[in-house]
Amino acid sequence: MDDVTAILDQLNPAQHEAVSAPQGNMLVLAGAGSGKTRVLVHRIAWLMQVEGLSPYAVLAVTFTNKAAREMRTRLEALLGLSLRNVWVGTFHSIAHRLLRTHWQDARLPQHFQIIDSDDQLRLVKRLLKENHVDDERYPPRQVQSFISGCKEEGLRSHQVDAHGDAYLAQMVDLYERYQLTCERGGLVDFGELLLRSLELLRDNPALLALYQERFGHVLVDEFQDTNTLQYAWLKLLSGMKTPMTVVGDDDQSIYGWRGARVENIRRFEQEFRDTRTVRLEQNYRSTSAILEAANALISHNADRMGKELWTAGSRGEPISLYAGFNDLDEARFIVDTIKEKVDEGYNRREIAILYRSNAQSRVLEETLIRQGMPYRIYGGHRFYERLEIRNALAYLRLLLNRDDDASLERIINVPARGIGTRTVEILRERARHADVTLWQALHDGLADASLKGRAGNAIQAFADLIERLDNETAGMALHEIIAHVIEHSGLVEHHRSEKGEKGQARVENLEELINAARAFTQGEALEPPETAEGGVALEAFLSEAALNSGEHEADEFEDCVQLMTLHSAKGLEFPVVFIAGVEEGLFPHKMSLEEPGRLEEERRLCYVGLTRAMRKLYLTYAEIRRMHGKETFQRASRFLREIPDEYMEEVRLRGQISRPVTAMRPAVGLSRQTSVNGGGDLPSLSLGQRVLHPVFGEGVILNAEGEGERARVQVSFEGEGDKWLVLGFAKLTPL
Ligand code: ATP
Ligand code: MG
Repeated sequence: MDDVTAILDQLNPAQHEAVSAPQGNMLVLAGAGSGKTRVLVHRIAWLMQVEGLSPYAVLAVTFTNKAAREMRTRLEALLGLSLRNVWVGTFHSIAHRLLRTHWQDARLPQHFQIIDSDDQLRLVKRLLKENHVDDERYPPRQVQSFISGCKEEGLRSHQVDAHGDAYLAQMVDLYERYQLTCERGGLVDFGELLLRSLELLRDNPALLALYQERFGHVLVDEFQDTNTLQYAWLKLLSGMKTPMTVVGDDDQSIYGWRGARVENIRRFEQEFRDTRTVRLEQNYRSTSAILEAANALISHNADRMGKELWTAGSRGEPISLYAGFNDLDEARFIVDTIKEKVDEGYNRREIAILYRSNAQSRVLEETLIRQGMPYRIYGGHRFYERLEIRNALAYLRLLLNRDDDASLERIINVPARGIGTRTVEILRERARHADVTLWQALHDGLADASLKGRAGNAIQAFADLIERLDNETAGMALHEIIAHVIEHSGLVEHHRSEKGEKGQARVENLEELINAARAFTQGEALEPPETAEGGVALEAFLSEAALNSGEHEADEFEDCVQLMTLHSAKGLEFPVVFIAGVEEGLFPHKMSLEEPGRLEEERRLCYVGLTRAMRKLYLTYAEIRRMHGKETFQRASRFLREIPDEYMEEVRLRGQISRPVTAMRPAVGLSRQTSVNGGGDLPSLSLGQRVLHPVFGEGVILNAEGEGERARVQVSFEGEGDKWLVLGFAKLTPL
């Protein structure tokens, strides 16, 4: 009975009830930090230990790989055994598993590849070009989100009715072409993973019955953020018969903009028979000052299910509010304060900096680097999204699947081997005409000698290289394959010859990829492959890399300050939290200001942010912020006014606490006299802007420094990487 005691220990009566309830549908609806995730984990343990459910019969779904991994670890600790076979994962990873196992029934090639949103965008751009579609009227990102949106609603292109609208009809046409290209190349995007696995189960009753039989219980965390497709998927998989436990919080629904449907919570209660609803009301995470502040904020939203949340914890310190005179000053305050906290005895990993937009991380990162403070960033510049890594992965993917056009295009001339854009154009044209993949077009061209001369030789050499790499790596272990490919493809040499530290860093990253592969086969992965040998492992590794590209998976053990967007902080908790850039237009984001629904979603996001903090919370904003190359005056966010004064105090000078917030409240924002610290301005260019360079092509401005003629900008060029350019010399045309 000891195990059972462990499972039920440390649960309050409501949690106890939820964990030990007889099998049946259950909805746990409760506010932040009330132990929903804890209940979920303990319930799985209970089902196995007491109800005798086999690990094989459990399906648990969560939203991030990090959360999935944590759930597995906690479960293993609770049960004292290794649980490799339990299906704990994200919607994507589980759908992926289904498709890999049943690739034939899913009408996929055995070695189908997952493409992430970056590949997807590249593919869309190519389609627009090939079909002579005006990319101003149909911006690639919009086409991409149209396609993803349709898939999230479970719609194939023939199911979308354009109602005679020419614009929409063009979108649908692009969706159809996009899908055809994916089918031809064996490519599967994130939305497709889910939609395809739903269709797989729906269209194969025998298979569906098998899984419905197999799963004895289905559990879902963060249920408020499920979209239409995910809901349908769960419904199908459970067959409305397998009991389900779902936990969620309507006040933390933050993915409405990406198709999440908070009403799924109500739908669940109505559609799933005899659902027992459990409410948890005690918060164990935060001090009462933080919790009360969060409760007050969220009470400004109109459409809520209504929940109580209290804590037995102490009031704790008030929330500190710091108004930086500009974004640099804000960053300096944050980093200085972190240093103080570390001196007080906090580990760096116990401290998080959260922000609304990815772009905000740059100034913070630079300040952290200058001050020698180690940090880790979730989202943003992610390992698997780095240029050199993507190039290496493209080679590897091509080894498995020659029809992967996206990968072929990426590396056909990297490192440079004399295959110019013109030749690639010709290949594309051929492929399109003959309705074949680029690899086939390339061989056809060589065979009928329409590709000849220098270009033909270069193409032949490329084709030979790929075949040779494939032969040479046969039978090697995964990390050996990777080491071999990055060396013999010339990638390592290519980056080594780059000038400066950048090249060095790229070589190091490539070497890191070998380490990642080694760690992967040694079982640190979410879903370790059955065997470390050859192709199977490579395929699993590439899938994991694609699934991971949304989250950075650096060394979990290094003691680093954690940086992430508010969205990726969902479900996590940290003793000390900073929320930076709490300004009108930034947070709430300006795009949300016109629609009341969106504003409420921003407020929920703020609620999520506040409730991540356990002991100490800092809110900061800058009165002047450099955005889009201009310095703009910022006003404090309305959210600050929605938090009662009694929970806040303003920090004026570094480390000094001044008057309570009430006194300065009317002055929040513009009125205080501050000096603008000049800095170089870029008259017609702005951060984040797209520009054209005569040699490097299209890119995005990431960074700027200096003034006038000597001002420099850092531009990230597609395929060329990041470069610093002096404005006075570089001929950049704004796009
Ligand atoms: P969120 O809405 O942010 O996802 P949650 O409801 O999932 O939060 P948990 O993360 O499960 O909450 O729990 C919050 C914190 O409270 C965790 O540190 C957890 O260990 C702790 N906790 C939960 N229940 C109890 C309890 N009964 N006794 C002590 N600590 C608890
Ligand atoms: Mg949780």
